[in-house]
Amino acid sequence: MAIGVTTRTLPKCKRMALVAHDNKKADLINWAKQVSAELKCHQLYATGTTGTLLQKQIELPITCLLSGPMGGDQQLGAMIAEGKIDVLIFFWDPLDAVPHDPDVKALLRLAAVWNIPVATNQASANFLIASSSLKEESVIEVPDYQNYIANRTTN
Ligand code: PGA
Repeated sequence: MAIGVTTRTLPKCKRMALVAHDNKKADLINWAKQVSAELKCHQLYATGTTGTLLQKQIELPITCLLSGPMGGDQQLGAMIAEGKIDVLIFFWDPLDAVPHDPDVKALLRLAAVWNIPVATNQASANFLIASSSLKEESVIEVPDYQNYIANRTTN
């Protein structure tokens, strides 16, 4: 039996996760400074090092999780699966290998599974931040796991 589809309404004030690999942290910080007026409307979360550096540069409250390589990416993945993160801005480094690559892949995979808006570079982050959907409630399709499990027989 295939898992069907249901919907989830993303709130007007999005719970937004910000993550950057080391070579991209300066880019994310500069971007966040440029769009801080827009970011102010949202609830910000970040992996440990990214969040700590961001807090020094933009005067906005940010909930810092563990550092990415120490489990922060997995924390974010779990929050996405639980419907507690609505948007992911992840400036990942396509030109350098990281030791926690499986965690990065898992994070991006869960963002795709739960169909949340994701920006993986500055251009897409700019498109996202300019979107009217970011400022309003918006509906996304998500897997209907509750229905799947309720109707699941042993086979
Ligand atoms: P960091 O983690 O913000 O703690 O550096 C980011 C990552 O590399 O996943």
